[in-house]
Parts: sequence; C-alpha cells; structure tokens
Amino acid sequence: MDLRERFPGVTEADWQDWRWQLRHALRGEAELERLVALTPEERRGLALGGLRTAVTPYYAALMDPAHPACPVRRQAIPLEAEGLASPGDLRDPTGEEPHRPARAVVRKYPDRVLFLVTDTCPVYCRHCTRRRITGGEEGAFDRAAVEEGLAYVRAHPEVRDVIVSGGDPLVLSDDRLLPVLEGLRAIPHVRVLRLATRAPVVLPMRVTEALAAALRRLAPLFVVTHFNHPKELTAEARAACERLVDHGVPVESQAVLLRGLNSTARVLADLFETLLTWRVRPYYLHQGDLAAGTGHLRTPLGAGVAILRQLRGRVSGLAIPHLAVDLPDGSGKITLAPDYTGRGGLEGGAGGTWLVNHRGERVRYPDPPSADCRCEYDAVWYGADRG
Ligand SMILES: *Cc1c(COP(=O)(O)O)cnc(C)c1O
Ligand code: SF4
Repeated sequence: MDLRERFPGVTEADWQDWRWQLRHALRGEAELERLVALTPEERRGLALGGLRTAVTPYYAALMDPAHPACPVRRQAIPLEAEGLASPGDLRDPTGEEPHRPARAVVRKYPDRVLFLVTDTCPVYCRHCTRRRITGGEEGAFDRAAVEEGLAYVRAHPEVRDVIVSGGDPLVLSDDRLLPVLEGLRAIPHVRVLRLATRAPVVLPMRVTEALAAALRRLAPLFVVTHFNHPKELTAEARAACERLVDHGVPVESQAVLLRGLNSTARVLADLFETLLTWRVRPYYLHQGDLAAGTGHLRTPLGAGVAILRQLRGRVSGLAIPHLAVDLPDGSGKITLAPDYTGRGGLEGGAGGTWLVNHRGERVRYPDPPSADCRCEYDAVWYGADRG
C-alpha cells in the first residue's frame, strides 16, 4: 500500500523535486491525520512539542494508515512516551559536548572528527540521538561555524577522517554543501571523507546524478546512510543508492536497533541482505543511545548480541554489521559480539582452544607451533625508528 494517492493533484515533477518534498513536509497533527488514523498516544505525542516533527511526503506515503506499529510511522510520528523519562536518560547521551573544540567539530578520537553542518533534517527520527541539536535548541550552523570548523581541521594534521553530519547535510543545496566538502578535501592530511545522510531513505530524489558525480570527484568519500526496516527499501531508495554506487561512491548503512520496530533477526536479516544486493554494505547496528525521550525504543544490550548470533551462519558475512555501543561518558564507540569461545577463553591450554560454532557445537582449535607474532620485515618496511 502506498499512500501517495492521498496527495491528490501533485505532479510527478513536483514529487521528484526534493525541494518540493522539503517544503511540503508534514509537520503536525492536522496534516498527519489526513494520511493516517492517529491514535491517542500519537496525538498526545504530537502535542508534546519536544523534538521537531517533519515527514517528507515521500516517507509519509510509506506509512501504514491503519497500523500504529508500522515501523515507518513509529520512526516519524512521536508517541506520548517521548515525554517520559527513563533511567539513565541524558540530554547529551554520547557525551559530545565536552569534545567540541569548535562548534561544528566533535572530536573523540585522535584521527577522526564529526563535522556538523546543519541542525535540520528532512524527517526527524523519533530515535534521534543528537536531538539536543536537531531539536533546534542550539540554532543553525552558519558560515562562521563552518569556517571555524575548517580552520580547526586544517590546524590538526592528526585528523585523517572527517564525517560530515548534522542534522542531515543533504538538506543543504549542492551550492552550499559542496564547497564545505571541497574545503575538507583540499586539506592534505584529510584522507577519507564520509557524508552521513538519511536522504536515500527519506528523500531519495535528493540524490541526483549531478550530486553523485560531484561526490565521486571528492573520492575517497563514503556515503553513510541509515536504513532501519525493509519497508524503507523502495524502488526510489534503491535507485538513489545505486546512483551513488554506479558513479563510484561507496555506500554504507548504519541501522539503529529499535525495540518493536526492527528488533528481530528476521527483520534485520531481510534488511541487511537486501541492502547488500544494492551494493550497500551494512556497517553498524547501533544500540540505542540514552537520549532522553527514547527509552521506549531501546532494547537491552543482550538483544543486539542475540540477533548477531542468529545472523551468523544464516546470512552472508558481508551483510552482518558490527554492533556498536556509543558510551555515555563520551569516550567513544565500542563493539559487542557474541562470544564464541568455550570455557577457558582464547588462552588455549593443553593442545588448543575450544570454540563454539554458530550451531552451538564445540570445536577444537589447535595452538600453532609458535606464539611469537612479531613481523621481522616491519623494521625494513617502516624503518626501525617507527617500530
Ligand atoms: C561514530 C563516531 C566516529 C566514527 O567512528 P567509526 O567507528 O570510525 O565509524 C568518529 N567520531 C565520533 C565523535 C563518532 O561519534
Ligand atoms: S536524520 Fe539523523 S540527525 Fe536527523 S533526525 Fe534522523 S537520526 Fe537525527
């Protein structure tokens, strides 16, 4: 079912125009109730006035008008539960604020930074972790903030990987975004660029041929997008991803584990396998951050690990992302994985280690004749001084 018929009189040209989609984003109860039968929980959620609400007509057309459990609807329309506090909720759930050496820059690692270029998005995800910014509390990122950020990256030669994010950078026009990316590309020590955007999911018409070609010229640049459910895997979304890949821009996808939306192995196997056939590589599966107002969407830590265990052996290894937890103290991300070691861990012992395969059977893995892992040639290749 596609609700596009509920936008009567819209021409195909308008529908395929990303600016038309942004201008006509649905923002409140009156607009949304023309599309779906709103529940009392949704009406009270829309009245909360916390994180902004906006839904592009394209994404809104994917909602199930009758079933409030629809994962597209749940990502786009707030519930009353967004107003409730959960234990451990934080305004800054991944501890970014103490790590902002410039307003546009978040730096938790020596070699990588986030570079924020906007506080707005085509669709505000109800699980947004950066909602203190996308909620509009901070204000927009003007030219001065971007210039200050560029100056920071220029002055820090250790920074080798810059993730342009926000908000969603693709709400900016090519004329505004490309100079920022070009400014970063012109910094000799910046090796890799990433562009974090949900446009392929919520505004696929934004990914034009011209944009794909421009991004290819900035290689190595990876587009990192954010698909959460197979309902989002439309022909338009596929075309947007394939436009990028066909132009030579690699595309990765990060999903957020959302309780009751995509928190089963069946849903995620379907999502990740299909993305892989689009040549979109599942990169991270994120444990939900402790963002205030998202407690109802969070899973226990063990749920993600259990899902990974079910995926291993069932789907292509290329379709299995890392399970990432962004720690609330600001120290960065770690990854969790099922433990396949038997009793005694990886220490080995008399003649080897016991491992447990994805079927739960014990398999012996023998120790090699030597445990010395130094590489003698390193000193030749790198020079003795660099170890
Ligand atoms: C997630 C993140 C990165 C990138 O981490 P990777 O594991 O390299 O993808 C870098 N900086 C910050 C602040 C982040 O939150
Ligand atoms: S697109 Fe990203 S930044 Fe924007 S609301 Fe969704 S999760 Fe937050």
